[in-house]
Amino acid sequence: MIATEKIENCSLIAGPCSAESEAQVMECARSLARMGVKVFRAGVWKPRTRPGNFEGAGVPALEWLKEVKAETGMAVTTEVANARHVEAALRAGIDMLWIGARTTTSPFAVQEVADALRGTDIPILVKNPINAELELWIGAFERLSNAGIRRLAAIHRGFSSYYERIYRYSPEWQIPIELRRRIPGLQVICDPSHMAGRSDLIPHLAQMALDMKADGLFIEVHPNPCEALSDRNQQLTPAQFKSLTEGLVYHREAAPSDTANLEPYRSKVQDIDLKIIQDLAERFRITGGIGEYKNTHNLAILQPDRYNAISGILAEKGKELGLDENFIQLLFETIHAESIKCQINKKNNI
Ligand code: PEP
Ligand code: MN
Repeated sequence: MIATEKIENCSLIAGPCSAESEAQVMECARSLARMGVKVFRAGVWKPRTRPGNFEGAGVPALEWLKEVKAETGMAVTTEVANARHVEAALRAGIDMLWIGARTTTSPFAVQEVADALRGTDIPILVKNPINAELELWIGAFERLSNAGIRRLAAIHRGFSSYYERIYRYSPEWQIPIELRRRIPGLQVICDPSHMAGRSDLIPHLAQMALDMKADGLFIEVHPNPCEALSDRNQQLTPAQFKSLTEGLVYHREAAPSDTANLEPYRSKVQDIDLKIIQDLAERFRITGGIGEYKNTHNLAILQPDRYNAISGILAEKGKELGLDENFIQLLFETIHAESIKCQINKKNNI
C-alpha cells in the first residue's frame, strides 16, 4: 500500500523543455511568473533517444534555476535520472524533482534515484514509462515510497507506439485511470506537450486531461520555440500558453442534484452493459460448440476467411451506426481473441 501526501501548487507547472542559457531561462521564468505560474520546470540533464543531440547544460544550469527562485519566488523542478543528478539538485535547493519516462522504464535507475533520495522529503513527480506498462509505473512509486518519499505524484505524458499516430505519444487514458484505482489519492498531472508532440494539438489535449480529472498540467513553454535546442515542435510561446490557460474549462464537483439528474441515464447504461455481458456469455457458449465441431471434424480453430468476412460485416454495420471504426475493430479483435482462447481451452480440456 503506497500512502501519498498531497503536493502543493502542482496544478500548473510550466517552463522550457531544456534550460539552455541563463537569458532563456530568466526570460521564460519572468513571463510565466507574471501569469501566476507557481512551479517552473526546466530540464538540466536531457535524456536523448539518439546520441549527438543537446544533452542539457548540466550543473551550471542549476544556478539559473536558483536565480529563478530568488527573483520570481516560483518553485523550481528538474529531471533526475541517477544519484549524481539527485545529489547536485538537492545541493542546489531544487524544490521538486521529476523522473523521466525513459528512466521509469529502468528499475535499476529508479532504485538508484530512490536510494539517493532516502532521508529527504522532497516531492517527486514520476512520469509514466515510455512503454504502456502500468506495473513499471507502479513499481517506481513503490521504490520511492520504500525509500521514505511521501509526497509523490504521477505525470501522464503518453506512451510510445511503433505506428505513426496523430499524437507523438498515445494518451491511453485508461492507464492513468487504472493507476488512480491502484494508488488511491495519488495526484495525476498531465503533460500534454510530450503527448501531442505538436504545439497546435496541446490545448485540446490539455482540456481533455481536465475532462479526465487531471489534477494538474505540466506544459513546455519557450520564449522562442523555433530556436529551442530540444522538443522544438511542441513548445508553446508564453503568449500561446496564456491563451491556452485562459481557454481551459475547470469542472466543478458533482452535487447530489447532478447525481439525481444523471441516475436515469446511468441505470439505462447499466442495463445495456448487463445485457452485453449476457450476450457475450451466450456467444462464447455457442463458439464452444463450434470449437467442438472443429475438433471432432479435424478443422483448424482459426478460419481466416470467416474472420475476415465477419470483420467486414461489423465494420460496415459500425459505420452505418456512426461508431468509431478503430473502436469496432479493437472490440471485435478482443471478442474474437477470447473466442479462440475458449476453443483452445475446450480442445485441451482446460
Ligand atoms: C521532459 O519533460 O522534457 C522530458 C524529457 O520528458 P519525458 O521524460 O516525458 O520524455
Ligand atoms: Mn521535452
